[in-house]
Amino acid sequence: MKYIDEYRDAELVKSTLKEIHRVVTKPWVLMEICGGQTHSIVRHGIDQLLPDQIELVHGPGCPVCVTPLELIDKALEIASQEDVIFTSYGDMLRVPGSSKDLFAIRASGGDVRVVYSPLDAVKIAYDNPDKKVVFFAIGFETTAPANAMSVLQAKNLGLKNFSVLVSHVRVPPAMHAILGSPYNRVQGFLAAGHVCAVMGYWEYPPISEKYQTPIVVTGFEPLDIVQGILETVKLLEAGKIEVNNAYARTVTYEGNQPAQEVISQVFCECDRKWRGIGVIPMSGWCLKPELSEFNAESIFDVQDIQPQESPLCIAGEILQGLKKPHDCKAFGVQCTPETPLGATMVSGEGACAAYYKYGRIKE
Ligand code: SF4
Repeated sequence: MKYIDEYRDAELVKSTLKEIHRVVTKPWVLMEICGGQTHSIVRHGIDQLLPDQIELVHGPGCPVCVTPLELIDKALEIASQEDVIFTSYGDMLRVPGSSKDLFAIRASGGDVRVVYSPLDAVKIAYDNPDKKVVFFAIGFETTAPANAMSVLQAKNLGLKNFSVLVSHVRVPPAMHAILGSPYNRVQGFLAAGHVCAVMGYWEYPPISEKYQTPIVVTGFEPLDIVQGILETVKLLEAGKIEVNNAYARTVTYEGNQPAQEVISQVFCECDRKWRGIGVIPMSGWCLKPELSEFNAESIFDVQDIQPQESPLCIAGEILQGLKKPHDCKAFGVQCTPETPLGATMVSGEGACAAYYKYGRIKE
């Protein structure tokens, strides 16, 4: 398969790893932002094949993981209502709120439906004018264009029974928060290739310059990952502060301009709470005030939910690259993918779930 198989070529991966071993002379801490990259790294054991001087820490780029618990609880409350059809991507259905999940709501008679596109939810609203149809619009920059499009389409159709429960998050403010922390350990970033496919990487040079940290746009296949690491290590070893693109087959500097235009028509920047981390200023996208008729949080009275996270959970430190999943005492004991206590175990893309799945009890 063109552009996939080539990037799984074991010989090419081995020779790139060899080159990393050759060029590295000092210890470096690199962060991969995206949960998909974390999963690929742990699945293929890439971190274990790197020189001892290179440590990979895992960033907050798992959208399901960082969706705040109170928003899950709001979704559960809305989905429980009799006149509601609650629609979501499938991966949100098993994410536990404070006491249950969307599967449980469906089992007890709630109309909870999996959709593969938010436009499917618009169609459900069109076909069911006597019901209130809500779409759970979560994710990073990758899902924002389609979610924005659903609002525009509902507006064009004149639908009064469609709304979105929004928890969009953005990568650049999270990078600011991590690099600006007094406890920061990250010296180089692998930026998330799919986010950059939408947004380009024009937002990154000021971050790289401000924190004197090289950033390399990186893909998801094993060869993509090791190429991104090699590029970052080369920059670090040479003392160069640059933003480079190691995923040029997909990403351009400007990104997908029509997609960015659709996002800007529907969303505006706002403060956003990240599960496990807390509020990061201007790190989210919210519906523009003129589109508030599509805002599920305004339509349904669900503003006052304040759930408590498990005191055992150190997901916030993991998501900032300060700790690893097996540093958590609850890892694999009280907390498993079947009984997740925190952000990084709730989704297969979370670092704790990846470590659990691939048996990383200790390094
Ligand atoms: S293992 Fe569970 S409790 Fe521990 S940090 Fe990960 S998600 Fe939190």
